[in-house]
Amino acid sequence: MTNTCNLEKLIRPNVAALEPYSSARDEFTESGAAMVFLDANENPFENGVNRYPDPQQRLLKKEIGLIKDISEKNMLLGNGSDEVLDLLFRAFCEPGKDTIITLPPTYGMYKVLAGINNIENREVLLTEAFQPNVPAILEAVDKQTKMIFLCSPNNPTGTALSEANIEQLLNNFKGLVVIDEAYIDFSETESWSKKLKQFPNLVITQTLSKAYGMAGIRLGICFASEEIITILNKIKPPYNINSLTQEKAIHRLQNISSVKKEIGSLIDEKIKLYKALLEISFIDKIVPSEANFILCRVDDASKRYNQLVEKGVVVRNRSNQPLCENTLRFTVGTPKENKLLIATLKQLKS
Ligand code: PMP
Repeated sequence: MTNTCNLEKLIRPNVAALEPYSSARDEFTESGAAMVFLDANENPFENGVNRYPDPQQRLLKKEIGLIKDISEKNMLLGNGSDEVLDLLFRAFCEPGKDTIITLPPTYGMYKVLAGINNIENREVLLTEAFQPNVPAILEAVDKQTKMIFLCSPNNPTGTALSEANIEQLLNNFKGLVVIDEAYIDFSETESWSKKLKQFPNLVITQTLSKAYGMAGIRLGICFASEEIITILNKIKPPYNINSLTQEKAIHRLQNISSVKKEIGSLIDEKIKLYKALLEISFIDKIVPSEANFILCRVDDASKRYNQLVEKGVVVRNRSNQPLCENTLRFTVGTPKENKLLIATLKQLKS
């Protein structure tokens, strides 16, 4: 079944009509193309960052394309994937009118962004196995529903969402299905980015903040059809990826073997951590994880959280999320940090 996704109906009318800002350097890529650049009111004295960055991030997109095997035309970069998510709201959701669907327990920013943009957030809980409840989701859809947010592997559970469930949503929902793959590089499951041609309503977000170890440079990625990318490009700030970020990211991507080595070591550490957590008396459930963290149910999450903080170990209490009562989420650290976490958990008094 092919879903006919009508972007003209999905896009906000003011965005459709918008004439985007054209930045000084849009037409010129390398500085060698001109004798002098006197177009952007920069300070001409060279210091490495006196020039504006490439607004289309061509060199960086090329490197991402090589690693992810995706055309640059299907790519938009953001100041973290949080910016990409915000652009999606602003391009497609009419404040005060449209709705989105999210599947708690999940990443908190979808709800916050809906709030900022005055969009109704319809929450359809994941099942007990932390999988999408497809009939209930389709039931919650109405004419104003523009996007469904899926997170796979999901934060905070670490579970990958079932391929069959996602496919059902892609086939039956006329709006955009956004799959947040922030943790995909830790997972055994394949990215949905290979299926852009098959599903015109598919949008994928990824990030260099997790497996690539670059949370500090703020680089998020959106993969989608050329048509969707063209819409997002209309509203993105002209120079949203700064020169230092572009440079650092290119360097990291050109050294992909060291990224892979770190991912391998974090996965090994996660397995060790999982086994060690089984031995902790006040932990009664550990959710198998496809990400770089582990969610556990404990006897009393706020007590254990405070005890850990007192000993200098900061973890995340996720108990305020549905289906997550008395849970703590542990990020996988270095071997030394993980040993310290386990030793500290073992010392905690009942
Ligand atoms: N999506 C998920 C599921 C996340 O957990 C996070 C960060 N915690 C983000 C997106 C945001 O990532 P970025 O650093 O790329 O903004």
